[in-house]
Amino acid sequence: MGLEIELVCLDLDGVIYRGDVLIDGARFFIQKLIERGVEYLFVTNSTLFSREFYARKLRKLGIPATKDMVITAAYATYKYVEMREGTSAFSAFLLAERGLRRELSRLNCRFLKPTSSERADYVIVALDRRITYGKLCKATWDIMDGAVFIGVNNDALWPVENGFMPGVGVFVSALETATGRKAYIVGKPNTFMLELAREKVKVPPSRILMVGDKLDSDILMGNRAGVHTALVLTGVTSLSEVEQAEGELKPEIVAEDLVELWSKVFG
Ligand SMILES: [Mg+2]
Repeated sequence: MGLEIELVCLDLDGVIYRGDVLIDGARFFIQKLIERGVEYLFVTNSTLFSREFYARKLRKLGIPATKDMVITAAYATYKYVEMREGTSAFSAFLLAERGLRRELSRLNCRFLKPTSSERADYVIVALDRRITYGKLCKATWDIMDGAVFIGVNNDALWPVENGFMPGVGVFVSALETATGRKAYIVGKPNTFMLELAREKVKVPPSRILMVGDKLDSDILMGNRAGVHTALVLTGVTSLSEVEQAEGELKPEIVAEDLVELWSKVFG
């Protein structure tokens, strides 16, 4: 296609693996990138686990990866809050599990309990499998009282091995309904994670290819950021859905899998 790509950003679920199973062609594609000297990073809306967890999972599947090559929405949230707060002390009330808490622990952040009467500076919503009515109350009151309201992502569903579970967007919507306020969403389709990718590998957008399986997150983010976009049909999107996509949701390249993508872009 005559594209000069120096950095490939890849989504994980539906592109590299499905649950714990490697998708055909993923290892081939990464091996080819390494041989060609093209840099690659992984960009995921996941919030549950640490970057090291995903890097280890990738290595177990035979995909060379380090923690610094993984950008999760939890990590991006840490970078976003760091940009706002620097080294200042602040408090946060989280609907989240360890992945996000661990990232934010590197800042001068105090985590408030659901029973705390102190108003948090930030209410940050991620995936919380131990959500309770008490936590929703605390989050609602603090947002209404002026806390910065952040959603790590706004995904309606969370893909798991045998199907789907309710995603972060379910909690974000609940709190938006309760408070009448809109959350700032850090993850895809916000372009923030691609900006972080460009901090790591300094190349212009015209040299970047974003590869994903979802139109309203991966492809929308890529098009908004002005990078090249490719949709692979190994995940949640069917060919007929891609054919109906318009405007910013339309990928520049469509490929059956990563093997076909390689020959379309680099072959
Ligand atoms: Mg995906």
